[in-house]
Amino acid sequence: MTEHARNLPGVLEPEGVWRNVFDYHPLDVEIVRAEGVYLFDPDGNKYMDATGGPMAVNVGHGDKRIADAINAQMQNYAYCHPYMASRIRADFCNAIAEHTPGDLGPTYLVSGGSEAVETAIKIARQFHCLTGNEGKHKIVGLYGSYHGMTLGTMALSGSPAYNKYFDPMMPRWPHIPQYTDVGRPADVDRDEWGRRCAEELAHILHYEGAGTVAAFIATPVGVGSDYGLFAPDSYWQTIRQICDDNNVLLIADEVVTGFGRTGKWFAMEHFGVVPDLMVMGKGIASSNMPLGGVTVSERINTPFKDGARFLHGFTNQGHPLACAAGLAVLDVLERDKLIDNARIRGAQVSNNRDRLVAHPTVANLTGRGLLMVMELVESKETGAYFDGERDAEHLFQSVALTHGLVFYSSLYGSRRGAVARGLPMWISPPLTITESELDDLLDRLDATLTEWESLLGVNQA
Ligand code: PLP
Repeated sequence: MTEHARNLPGVLEPEGVWRNVFDYHPLDVEIVRAEGVYLFDPDGNKYMDATGGPMAVNVGHGDKRIADAINAQMQNYAYCHPYMASRIRADFCNAIAEHTPGDLGPTYLVSGGSEAVETAIKIARQFHCLTGNEGKHKIVGLYGSYHGMTLGTMALSGSPAYNKYFDPMMPRWPHIPQYTDVGRPADVDRDEWGRRCAEELAHILHYEGAGTVAAFIATPVGVGSDYGLFAPDSYWQTIRQICDDNNVLLIADEVVTGFGRTGKWFAMEHFGVVPDLMVMGKGIASSNMPLGGVTVSERINTPFKDGARFLHGFTNQGHPLACAAGLAVLDVLERDKLIDNARIRGAQVSNNRDRLVAHPTVANLTGRGLLMVMELVESKETGAYFDGERDAEHLFQSVALTHGLVFYSSLYGSRRGAVARGLPMWISPPLTITESELDDLLDRLDATLTEWESLLGVNQA
């Protein structure tokens, strides 16, 4: 905590009641109840969930319909061996298939995003082995990306700060730079730039040997300082073409962007591109239950449908209670038209762009739907974020709490690349948020930014 923050909420030490929770240093506001877009502390103070947890709470907190669905399943059976025929699992997978783009249909269910990414890369690998391409084993990812915290997903992610202690334990998979508008020459339009950025994939396939590469994985929108940035359609369409030309599978990681967050069921729909595998998590059950999944296309499904066993499995895969939660979430998203609301409320945030970027620390606001992201910087001139010593991200969270807002901490401060860029900060509340609640959120955010800047000694206009 910085010296400025003495009167602000700090961090709980792992002492007293917290002592047996390994590595637990949460912010010292205890949450005892949640409803809609609000979280409540023991004194009844309420805080808006400004980031929907880590962009995971799509349906508002405490939706009784989801609780009832979980309860109803519990009355029947809470669990059965994953290889027993469990109807709720089939019903949920069928419901997902009604919304996934193109011919993406069958889903393998797991317990979270990292497990889902691991599962996708194993499906990609086994698919190639089953179709006569045993040499294809590498997965190309993006520098600065994040796909989870297991060793396999960290090998994909391009975030050296997190890999610090674990690098020797992981394969060294290749990475390429992501699409960014920074550095685009003035005489090159976005469409052309999108095609040029996508060519990075062709280059790495040339140098690694396409015969050794099983898949390319990326999130549909930018990561790190470009979090939430939408590339032009030409980027994804060129990536799709390069994958097809080289028999490299395209894995879209929709853990954050899926289930309505960007104003469509899945973000790849914005680009008119259908991946071979789509990874899901977070919003899939709106984090009412631990749940994730991988949906595959007809082509990927074929050798498995024809009898090859996927060498994989978890005790809790397709857990009946999680399926009940997921099925209810899909129903609420549709019934309450939450994806439309995400689009409308996203436009409302965009309408406040001028007010936000007027702050000396807000270099940019980007995104769609309720995946809106500010790039926070120390100075717009240098484009750089505050020095790590100043703990500015944590200070932001603490100040926000005193203004009644809960922000997820990205830790991107330590994950930024070599180029001077800012820290992403999300405006990603539950998709249930109303117009007046969002206005309130934006007013509180404005006040948070002003106080944060003042505490950090940033000059305000
Ligand atoms: N993929 C992406 C894009 C993510 O942002 C995350 C988590 O933030 C994951 C995968 C991992 O999901 P989980 O934390 O549920 O394991």
